[in-house]
Amino acid sequence: MAAFDIETLVVGGGIAGLACAVHLKGHGRTVRLVERNDQLGGVIRTLDEGGYRIETGPNSLFLRPEDPLLEYLHQTGLDQEAVLAGKAGKRRFILKDGKSVPLPGSILEGITTPVLSFMGKMRVLREAFIPPYEPNPPDDPEIETVAHFVERRFGPEFLEWMIDPFVKGVYASTPETLSIEDTFPRLTAMEDRYGSVLRGALAMQFGPKPPRSPLTRSIFSFKGGMGRLPEGLSELLGTDAGTNAEVVGITQTPTGFRTALLFDEETYYLHSRHVVLAGNAIQSSELLQEICPEAVGPMTEIPYAPIAVISLGFSRKNVEHPLDGFGLLVPSREKRKILGILFSSSLFPDRAPEGQVLLTVFAGGMSNPKLAFAFDEDLIEIIGREVETILGTKGKPDFLRIQRWEGAIPQYTPGHRSRIERMTQALPNGLYLAGSYLSGVSVSQSFTSGIETARRILASPPEG
Ligand SMILES: Cc1cc2nc3c(=O)[nH]c(=O)nc-3n(C[C@H](O)[C@H](O)[C@H](O)COP(=O)(O)OP(=O)(O)OC[C@H]3O[C@@H](n4cnc5c(N)ncnc54)[C@H](O)[C@@H]3O)c2cc1C
Repeated sequence: MAAFDIETLVVGGGIAGLACAVHLKGHGRTVRLVERNDQLGGVIRTLDEGGYRIETGPNSLFLRPEDPLLEYLHQTGLDQEAVLAGKAGKRRFILKDGKSVPLPGSILEGITTPVLSFMGKMRVLREAFIPPYEPNPPDDPEIETVAHFVERRFGPEFLEWMIDPFVKGVYASTPETLSIEDTFPRLTAMEDRYGSVLRGALAMQFGPKPPRSPLTRSIFSFKGGMGRLPEGLSELLGTDAGTNAEVVGITQTPTGFRTALLFDEETYYLHSRHVVLAGNAIQSSELLQEICPEAVGPMTEIPYAPIAVISLGFSRKNVEHPLDGFGLLVPSREKRKILGILFSSSLFPDRAPEGQVLLTVFAGGMSNPKLAFAFDEDLIEIIGREVETILGTKGKPDFLRIQRWEGAIPQYTPGHRSRIERMTQALPNGLYLAGSYLSGVSVSQSFTSGIETARRILASPPEG
């Protein structure tokens, strides 16, 4: 008789936990996934309210040909529900001197763009001739920040007007806080291999490319919104996935682990050979206090940026900006209170009722964490003023919804890699981690983290 109820218990039904569980099940292993919320998907959530289809977490997906998620989209049939962002998806704006200016989307636009001065553009081109970084001993290359790397290679203007707003929009952070090696490993790899990012990009442009499908050419979502992704994956799990069940303790046994599970105010115990902790680093560290205290230190050292996501519906005629793009990024230099705005109803169809538009505003982040937790009325007033000034909105929105995420985006700060090494080396055999704090924060990278964990489990021989 087996010494455990199931082979692997996955704690957390975000995209990383789901990926791990479906991959194990697909390879014939017994697995159970438990999620403490009443639905699967973690921060991925789509709501249909007041005629609007809103995303309270991620809005879109971007895939590379090598990403394992691609195969699962085919397997679940979700590829048939994909909606590619139209032309609008390629056009982004930044705020410069209070005005919305399109970011260059081609070489020609790069030459003519008013975002950078003539000298700023020349400095970008000079990148091809800047020698690679040679840190003076005893400096550790791991400590180089995104800001230091970009300024060193492309100059201060490029950092200020292109990279700073991008880092704010994607990581809710600042380039001064993040580690270049961990946040943009492709850039440091190009510098290492080609001596320059521009030369590396050029070589890759003309080098052999993996075959591309429509889903790797454009950002996309699904007809029913991003929430279709966890729904589709959970269909592969059936009753092997459960919600409203919180893991509250883990102890080691001679054959694996005994996990305490709180469900319907009762505590249940499950025996498994492997446990995968797929919560965020803060949540998972709480479960390691007893069983592996050495991993707790490096896990709690990972900062998380809090975010408030404010969905606003307006009548089209009450917004001056044409909203003909993906959205608007806000450089720190502009000293605004928000991180950025997505023009959600321009990006994907059926996001707002006829004649209305949907905007998604992000606030908080590492530069202004308190704003994410401001009282609703204060937040609404501040955001209302910001969109009025920036986009020319008139009057109050017809629709409004606020979502707050306390641990929204993990920050890959200098030393991140050694933190990950320290925590994973401390784990006892059979205990694994998965999630957005390990190998990239995007939905697709978090999915890959779950797949990689499943592959490590598959590499261990089955029971018996
Ligand atoms: C506002 C926002 C916008 C974003 N936009 C994008 C975007 O447009 N594109 C993109 O690619 N990425 C985006 N991201 C990033 C991406 O969505 C996340 O990094 C990724 O979805 C995280 O997945 P995860 O599985 O690691 O963690 P989570 O989604 O946090 O899931 C962890 C799950 O574990 C559960 N859990 C934790 N502890 C326990 C326990 N003890 N018992 C049971 N369950 C437990 C939690 O309840 C949670 O459901 C965005 C993120 C946010 C917050």
